Amino acid sequence: MPPERAERVHAPMQQFAVRNGELHVGDIALTQLAARVGQTPFYAYDRALLHARVHELRRALPAAVKLHYAMKANPMPALVAVMADLVDGIDVASAGELKLALDAGANPAEVSFAGPGKRETELRQAVAAQVLINIESAREVDLLERIAAEQGLAARVAVRVNPDFALKGAGMKMGGGPQQFGVDAEQVPQLLTQIARAGLAFEGFHLFAGSQNLQAQSICAAQLQAYALALRLAQHAPSPVRSLNLGGGFGIPYFPGEQRLDLARIGENLAELSLRAQHDLPQAELVIELGRYLVGEAGIYVTRIVDRKQSRGQVFLVCDGGLHHHLAASGNFGQVIRKNYPVTIGNRIDSPLTEVASVVGPLCTPLDLLADQMTLPLAQAGDLVVVFQSGAYGPSASPQTFLGHPPCVEVLV
Ligand SMILES: *Cc1c(COP(=O)(O)O)cnc(C)c1O
Repeated sequence: MPPERAERVHAPMQQFAVRNGELHVGDIALTQLAARVGQTPFYAYDRALLHARVHELRRALPAAVKLHYAMKANPMPALVAVMADLVDGIDVASAGELKLALDAGANPAEVSFAGPGKRETELRQAVAAQVLINIESAREVDLLERIAAEQGLAARVAVRVNPDFALKGAGMKMGGGPQQFGVDAEQVPQLLTQIARAGLAFEGFHLFAGSQNLQAQSICAAQLQAYALALRLAQHAPSPVRSLNLGGGFGIPYFPGEQRLDLARIGENLAELSLRAQHDLPQAELVIELGRYLVGEAGIYVTRIVDRKQSRGQVFLVCDGGLHHHLAASGNFGQVIRKNYPVTIGNRIDSPLTEVASVVGPLCTPLDLLADQMTLPLAQAGDLVVVFQSGAYGPSASPQTFLGHPPCVEVLV
C-alpha cells in the first residue's frame, strides 16, 4: 500500500468474528443480538475480549506490576464486576464510582480514589470505606485529619503529584505545567510534612501524566521520569513508599493512520523499573492504571439506519442513534479536528466497499455525525451501523437527554 494511502486507513478491527457477512459479538450474530436486546441503539461489550486484553497485558508486563482499572472509562455495573475480578484494583474518581466499585465486589484495600475538588462527604465515605485516597490539595489533608479523628479510622493516603514533565504524544495531557490535578511536584515536600503532622497513613505517590498515547517510547520516557521524581519525593515522605502508581495513558487506535501500541516495549521498560524499585523502594508496589486500553476495543455501538437520503450528490444514512449516545464518535469529546472512528455496516461486512456515505444521527444539529463521507458497503434502511472502539467513554460520557430521544441500552455478552 503506498504510504499516502496507509495514512488514511483505520487499523484493522479483527477482534470480533465475522460469519456469513455478519459481525459476531460474544459469539452472537449482530442481527440476532439486536433482536435479543430488543431495540437499537445499543452498546455491546464482549466479555471474552475483556479477558483476552487483561491476559495480553499480564503476559507483556512484569508479574510484580499491579494492573488497575480506571472505571470512568466504562462504569457499566456488570462490566465493572468482570473487571474487578480480572485486575488488581479499581480506580474511582467520585463517591458514585466508589459505590459502584464496592457493589461490583472490588476489595476496598485495592480501590483508590483520585480527582480534584473531592467534597467533604466524599472524603468521609472514602475513609469509612478504607480505600486509598489520592490527595490533590492541602485542603484535603486538613479535612482528612478531622474526618479520621471523628471516625476513629486511619485515612489511607497517597499524594497525587502534578509532575514537572508532560506526556509527549498524549491525546489529553493531565500533568505538567499548571493543572487542576494533583499537587505541583515542587510543593509536595511541604505537603508531606503536613501529612505527617496530621497523622494520616501515607502510602505513596500517584503520577498520571496523560491519556490516549500510542507511542510506546513516550510512555516509557514518562514512566522513567515519574519513577525518578517519586524517588526524589520519597526522601521527604513520613514513611516508606508502599504504592507507586506510575499512571497509564495507553491509547487505542481510533483514527485513520493510527496503529496499536507496542506493548512489548512498555513491558521491558517496566521490568527494568520494577528491578530498580526492588532496590530503591523495597516496600513499594508498582501500579499501572488503565481505562480505555482495557475496555475500549471490546465494545461496539450499534445503531439502525432509519432513512437513506441523497442531498446534492451526497448520501446520508440517517440512524436512530448518534451524538447523544456516542459523543466521542461524533468528534465532540476533546477532539481538535474531527476524524472518523472505524465504522462499518455490521450485517454486510463482506460486501464490497462501493459507496461513499455519511452516517448521521437523528438530532437537529450538524454535529450529529458518526461518519463523514466514509467508504462503506451499500446500505439500506434497516441495516445495522457499527462503530468500533466504543467500549470506553460511551454512554456515560454522552449527553443522553439532549433533544429528548430514547436512551441507549448496554449489554455485556
Ligand atoms: C481518565 C483517567 C484514567 C484513564 O484514562 P484512559 O485514557 O481511559 O486510560 C486513568 N487515571 C486517571 C487519573 C484518569 O483521570
